[in-house]
Amino acid sequence: MEEHIIAKDAIDFIDDLKLQKLVAETKEDSGKVRDVIAKSLNKEALSLEETAVLLAAESPALIEEIFEAARTLKKTIYGNRIVLFAPLYIGNYCINDCQYCGFRRSLRTAVRRTLSDQELVSEIENLEKFGHKRLILVYGEHPQYSPEFIAHTVEIAYQVKVGNGEIRRVNINAAPLSVEGFRTVKASGIGTYQIFQETYHRESYAKYHPAGTHKADYFWRLNSMDRALQAGCDDVGIGVLFGLYNWKYEVLSLVSHALHLQKYYNVGPHTISFPRIKPAHGLELQLNYQTTDEQFKRLVAILRLAVPYTGLIMTARESAEIRNDVIDFGVSQIDAGTRLEIGAYQEDRKTKEQQLDREQFKVGDDRDLDEVIRWLISRDYVPSFCTSCYRKGRTGEHFMEFAIPGFIKKYCTPNALLTLSEYLNDYASPETKEIGEKLICKELEKYNIENIKPQLIERLEKVNAGTRDLYF
Ligand code: SAM
Ligand code: SF4
Repeated sequence: MEEHIIAKDAIDFIDDLKLQKLVAETKEDSGKVRDVIAKSLNKEALSLEETAVLLAAESPALIEEIFEAARTLKKTIYGNRIVLFAPLYIGNYCINDCQYCGFRRSLRTAVRRTLSDQELVSEIENLEKFGHKRLILVYGEHPQYSPEFIAHTVEIAYQVKVGNGEIRRVNINAAPLSVEGFRTVKASGIGTYQIFQETYHRESYAKYHPAGTHKADYFWRLNSMDRALQAGCDDVGIGVLFGLYNWKYEVLSLVSHALHLQKYYNVGPHTISFPRIKPAHGLELQLNYQTTDEQFKRLVAILRLAVPYTGLIMTARESAEIRNDVIDFGVSQIDAGTRLEIGAYQEDRKTKEQQLDREQFKVGDDRDLDEVIRWLISRDYVPSFCTSCYRKGRTGEHFMEFAIPGFIKKYCTPNALLTLSEYLNDYASPETKEIGEKLICKELEKYNIENIKPQLIERLEKVNAGTRDLYF
């Protein structure tokens, strides 16, 4: 099917018949799987048909080959950095009634709240005291959360500074806006605009998003990235809420979305997220498509191979064990120290017990930022708070990382080490500081870009002496 215009401004790039056919009729073929893997390792993005070949692999040995390829691609191309961020829930008033969500309007027992400016400042102060530099602000859909309000909250986030702390990149996850609305939030300096289609399958979409709500409009949501890009936003993040429909169909849809954006705007999505449905307040859904851990691993590895120039985000909805298993398959960003209750970063919590009536869903990985950093270091990953590309105007950074030889060594590795060193100096526990400093030494020994290495060493020394925000 050629993409066709459904209504003014609405483009349908999800070819349902084709995707159904690819899922149902592509047969396992080890020769084809290996050809597709070779193409991906040769740094080429995959077509829908090629992605379907990977999805059709069912025998354990072949699946292991796909996992191994995803690990190799991650290691050889992206290296060992993992970017860290925190989500910050601004308000949970919502006019929609998404059947899976703890914020849905029909749930009268949900405790509703929007942070005041002062509360927002306290939340951000605390996030900075933990060591965060990158946030994603999250909003329900409600007239209160207008583009002007969103822009106002983003501006506050950039202004708050405690000690050496500051927020250097603010992304948002908010209901789809008009082109005009996107211009307003872009002007406030947002990094990525992120929104998940939830399910790309029309009938399932209708089932979970009742008619008469804003969110019931499938195309308004499907085309939101187009409007964001038309409004001048540089980075957009797409995603699926796994569990609403067949996972293979959803993976093909994500690839369709990426190919569409690449074709029309010459830029793929900045990130792809793959949340799975988690228990939430008042949630009694019977899910026919709940994605198993095994399927989850497969979908992450296949996305890594299919859309190699896009960042992959694995959220704290997943448990620490699953994150440990899946991170090697090409994940590039994770959240850490995540608290979902509105206002929870201000509260000095004695326990990690969550209050589900105040939040959207249950967190799976409740470790704090320092614990997550320690885990990453123990796995030989370099935790990074880098925001350099976005601030230097190098947008499309994942594409550059992937496509430009030497880009990672020239920019990403030094910036990751500099931001890690800031964290170790300002916020780390003694144990984390100790293993973190060893990791930096080890990384420096390996570092072999002769004209940058002396500058990097000099800047690391400056960070140790108190200078902040040095980057390449
Ligand atoms: N209200 C906006 C929207 O719906 O797009 C933005 C924020 S919403 C709070 C963020 C995302 O959380 C949703 O897009 C959905 O994918 C996810 N979500 C909702 N309920 C969930 C649940 N029970 N478990 C896991 N993720 C959930
Ligand atoms: Fe509202 Fe978003 Fe929850 Fe739907 S997923 S009920 S739009 S907050």
